[in-house]
Amino acid sequence: MDLKEHPLYKKHQKYLEWTRQSVPLKEFSALDKLKKIDYEFEKEPNFKILENPTQIVIHHAEIDGGNRDYYHWLHKALFGWDAVGYHFIIGNGLEGLSIDGEVEIGRELNVQGAHVRDHNHYTIGICLTGNFDNYLPSEKQMISLKKLVKELRVKFNITTKIKYHRDFDGVTKSCPGKQFPDLYDLL
Ligand SMILES: [Zn+2]
Repeated sequence: MDLKEHPLYKKHQKYLEWTRQSVPLKEFSALDKLKKIDYEFEKEPNFKILENPTQIVIHHAEIDGGNRDYYHWLHKALFGWDAVGYHFIIGNGLEGLSIDGEVEIGRELNVQGAHVRDHNHYTIGICLTGNFDNYLPSEKQMISLKKLVKELRVKFNITTKIKYHRDFDGVTKSCPGKQFPDLYDLL
């Protein structure tokens, strides 16, 4: 099935125009948590084309709540990027900012994300909201993640095993979190 036929993707078609819109501050309740975000990534003032991605990379948000619009605002405001760094965000429902298991579209799949330094040119970035250093992702998040990875594999003929952010050289973060399950053979 084409990714665009996926129910989760269709549900969020309305967000496809989102990427260059700003998000008002007052809509968010978790702004005091901004300092928990690492300034890990280089500034990326312009989108670059993503051609033939061959690797899917899993992240966590490191904060409990949040959603695509929140991370979009965050990445723009703090990093000066044009948009949120991830291609997909999977919500956990915490703080009323997302729906548990909901998949939101971040950057469109034809542009590079900003989620793994030096590796954005061939990777698709998926972020699950939550801090999995402290707890497990929700069951619904994992169901959505498995579905999404499966669809992406088919769409782009990706045969490599998934990677976690921490699997890349030079990454000192635990991302997607110390408690994130070992899914290398499942995804
Ligand atoms: Zn990460």
